[in-house]
Amino acid sequence: MILIQFISEVSVALYADLHRHLGGSVVPRILWRYFQRHDMEMARQFPEYQRFEKFYTCERNTLDEYLELHTIVEKVQTEQTLPYFIYRLIRGAYIFENLAYLELRYTPYLRTPEHSSQSKRIDAMKNIVEIVGRATQVREYPIIISQILCMHSRLPYEVNKAIIDLAASMKDYVCAIDVAGGDSHYGERIEEFISLYQYAHASGLKTTGHLYETPSGCYQELLPYLMRIGHGIQIPLKYPELLPNLAQSKQCLEICPTTYLKTGTLENLEELKIVFDRCFEAEVDIAICTDNAGLNNVRLPFEYENLLTKDIIDFHQLQACQDSAFRHAFAWPHKEPPASLLTGLLQDNSATDGLVSV
Ligand SMILES: [Zn+2]
Repeated sequence: MILIQFISEVSVALYADLHRHLGGSVVPRILWRYFQRHDMEMARQFPEYQRFEKFYTCERNTLDEYLELHTIVEKVQTEQTLPYFIYRLIRGAYIFENLAYLELRYTPYLRTPEHSSQSKRIDAMKNIVEIVGRATQVREYPIIISQILCMHSRLPYEVNKAIIDLAASMKDYVCAIDVAGGDSHYGERIEEFISLYQYAHASGLKTTGHLYETPSGCYQELLPYLMRIGHGIQIPLKYPELLPNLAQSKQCLEICPTTYLKTGTLENLEELKIVFDRCFEAEVDIAICTDNAGLNNVRLPFEYENLLTKDIIDFHQLQACQDSAFRHAFAWPHKEPPASLLTGLLQDNSATDGLVSV
């Protein structure tokens, strides 16, 4: 009985998503409803849902254009509204996506009041992390959630360094740092970002970073500092000679299929076949992720299904990627993915209770 209760409590939560932005995680209907209730101007601009969904989720020509959309959401994700959006995010992730584990990333500075001074905004970041941390603990939807704080390619050094300091001081809520904001903008500041990552390692933080997402974001000198690589698809596509090194240092690629179509980085999903094939051949792990499940309007199980139906991967490879996600998770507290735990329980149960198979 206790066993059955336990199984029903853990429900069917099976998957891990390692790469999801808080800004891009709001599904269009939730955002449209929010605008209808709280933002007169947006409500006037989009009186009908369908038109808003089309505007919000349509494909963009470049990564920069796509990232511009985040600013719409960032503006409304304030101290007051974050719990509202996060509750709905977690409810959807549990009910529709079967998530057992989620790493949620964002730039806390961009949720602080725009009109405040830089130093006041830096001070206000701690409160944002606490609000997100508390809001992610939802009793009825028990997903293990940890935060990744994103440095940003357009923010000054002092702010990015303060983001690392904050991450290091709030390890109960934060598991790692990232750099985001468009990988073509690291350019002449690459040495600065290397020093920030060195500082993060010295502070005992885990690291990921948006890199090799687009052809103009390929900075080999930053690679050694990343435990996981946000996207990284240009490595197997254009620099496959780097793969053995990645395998040796056990770096994992966070592949977010739908994003590459929305940003114009790839023309069709089939181009990912070579990414998966070369990584499997070189034994580089891949975690399949959503990136911006709301903005892309695609939830994690559909990312899986799309890859399967287009013959980009097979079921065996999917399973390997799902296992990799838990193995490379920065804050998953168990040795095994939840499916293994459940399988053991269910097999024990059927053996002792003599259930009849139908
Ligand atoms: Zn991303």
